Order: sequence, then structure tokens, then C-alpha cells
Amino acid sequence: MKAWAYDDYGDGSVLKLNDAAAVPDIADDQVLVRVAAAALNPVDAKRRAGKFKATDSPLPTVPGYDVAGVVVKAGRKVKGLKEGDEVYGNISEKALEGPKQSGSLAEYTAVEEKLLALKPKSLGFAQAAGLPLAVETAHEGLERAGFSAGKSILILGGAGGVGSLAIQLAKHVYGASKVAATASTPKLELLKSLGADVAIDYTKENFEDLPDKYDVVLDAVGQGEKAVKVVKEGGSVVVLTGAVVPPGFRFVVTSDGSVLEKLNPYLESGKVKPLVDPKGPFAFSQVVEAFSYLETGRATGKVVISPI
Ligand code: NDP
Repeated sequence: MKAWAYDDYGDGSVLKLNDAAAVPDIADDQVLVRVAAAALNPVDAKRRAGKFKATDSPLPTVPGYDVAGVVVKAGRKVKGLKEGDEVYGNISEKALEGPKQSGSLAEYTAVEEKLLALKPKSLGFAQAAGLPLAVETAHEGLERAGFSAGKSILILGGAGGVGSLAIQLAKHVYGASKVAATASTPKLELLKSLGADVAIDYTKENFEDLPDKYDVVLDAVGQGEKAVKVVKEGGSVVVLTGAVVPPGFRFVVTSDGSVLEKLNPYLESGKVKPLVDPKGPFAFSQVVEAFSYLETGRATGKVVISPI
């Protein structure tokens, strides 16, 4: 099969397109997915750079966590999925501890059934691929923060992959009383359209100098020191990257198909929408360009690779 792979850590130049990669074998609890679309996450770039060497799977690596595609083969113990099912998911249960060596930037990938869900029918493969890791992170962050109806939240990095979904989940799934989010000037209208009540332009204002305090702060930027200044007494500060200052805490996302299943009605109805960066979807031949765009840190929503 065709697959992007690297056999050494480094910058984008280590990525090579292999025309004769082995199709992965499936374990009893796995299905083989014919990949239709994949998406990049910052963890793909950090992993490629060798940041998680100590807990990574062995090289060579086919990168990619997010997938949408069609089941072409099911292992003996697979109960809920069958050949022909259109599925999506984050293929590595633990993002940093032994993530899959054979990822989603390939024509085929092997995935545990429990990490997948049926693709919402209203979404195309490219849109669905833009969801799993980011929406699971947003969901897990809100859950760990004890977020619930009537609470307020500030989301740092509202226009990114995680932030764009966290805004929508907080407002349209959890029933937030107030959602505030930060982005640069051209992205403020987008934040509002996703459900933010307050859009803070970080190029003009310091959120930590504003009078508002929040029940929860979700930091998807790496501003942990400032984030703790705007949380209410007894509130939660969830930090996805960078410094963690008490009472802030950090977690690493766990992939879970049941979270996608739980969210499917909201995705089917369009209450929650994947946001695919308009520079994409990138062709499979443009994976190097897609990585370098992701690594600018300026992507709006998800960097998607499709078709594969
Ligand atoms: P993205 O690459 O999608 O984020 C890009 C966005 O960040 C852009 O839209 C940009 O908007 C925005 N941004 C950059 N700087 C700022 C700033 N100072 N203030 C507000 N917005 C800003 O990243 P993800 O959303 O996918 O991930 C965010 C971070 O969370 C990454 O570091 C990632 O590794 C981490 N992460 C951690 C997880 C975990 O389990 N712990 C899981 C998932 C992600 P603009 O152009 O307006 O600046």
C-alpha cells in the first residue's frame, strides 16, 4: 500500500511516501480500515520531531491518529462492525504511550473496534476525519473540569482544532451560560459563529486583565500561568500544553469510540460541526505541505488530508 512514513525523527524532510508499505495485520479485536481521509494534529508533528521518543512505538512510523474510512476486514472478536461500514476515530488509545506504529496516513490502517464509531451520515469522510482526536480532547477536558449546564468557560485558542470543538460542545451540548474564547482579529467572527458569546482579540486585549472570571478555563495555547488568574474560586483550569500552574491540571487524551457515538446525534443534526481549514483538504501527495502548515500554529480548525 501507499503510506507516508519516517525512519528517523526530525523536521518535515524526514517524511517519505512509500509505495510498497506492508498492509498492517489485524488483531482479533481490530478492523482493517480502507482510509478515505485523515487529519493532522499537533501531536503528529511533535512526535515526528522526537518529543515523545521515550514512550513512542519503534521507528519506522506511519504518522496519523485521525481516520475516516471503510471497514474492509474484521477480526474474530469484532462484534459491532462489519465489512462496508463507514467509520471514523482516533486510532491510538493513548496519544503518547505507544501510539500505533502504522498510522492513518496510509491506504489502510488497523484499529480496535472500541476506538471507532459509525461515521455520521450527514458528514463526508473529510469532515469526519477532522473530528476524533480534537473532539475527544475537548470532551475529556470538559468532563475532567466537571463542566455542566449553566457554567461559564473561557477557551484559549478558540479557532484551533480543539478550541473550535470545545466552544461548540460547551455551548450546544453542555448548555454553558457563557462561552468566551480567544483568537486573533480575523477569526473573531468565526468564534461567534461557533457559539462563543464573547470573542476576545488576543492581539488587542489581555484576557487576564479583563474583569470576567470563569468556572472553567480550557487552555489550548500554553498560557497556563495567565489562565489561573481568571478562574473563579473553586473552578477548574484544564491545560492541554505548556506550563501547568496550580490549580491548573493537565491530561493526555484517551481515544474512545463511545464518546464519538455519544456525540453522533449532535453531529448528525449539525448542532456540532467539524471545522476543516479552508486551505485544505490537502491531497495525499501534499502531506509534507500539510505538516508545515499545521506547524505554523495558525490553522483554522483541522488540517485534513483527503482523498487517500
Ligand atoms: P491547532 O494547531 O489547531 O491550533 C491552531 C490555532 O491556535 C490557530 O487557529 C490560532 O489562532 C490559535 N492560537 C495560536 N496562538 C494563540 C494565542 N496566543 N491565543 C489564542 N489562539 C491562539 O492546535 P489544536 O487545537 O489541535 O491543539 C492545541 C494544543 O493542544 C497543541 O499544543 C496540542 O499539542 C495540544 N493538545 C493536547 C492534547 C492533550 O491530550 N493534552 C490533545 C490535543 C491537543 P490565531 O491564528 O488566531 O492565532
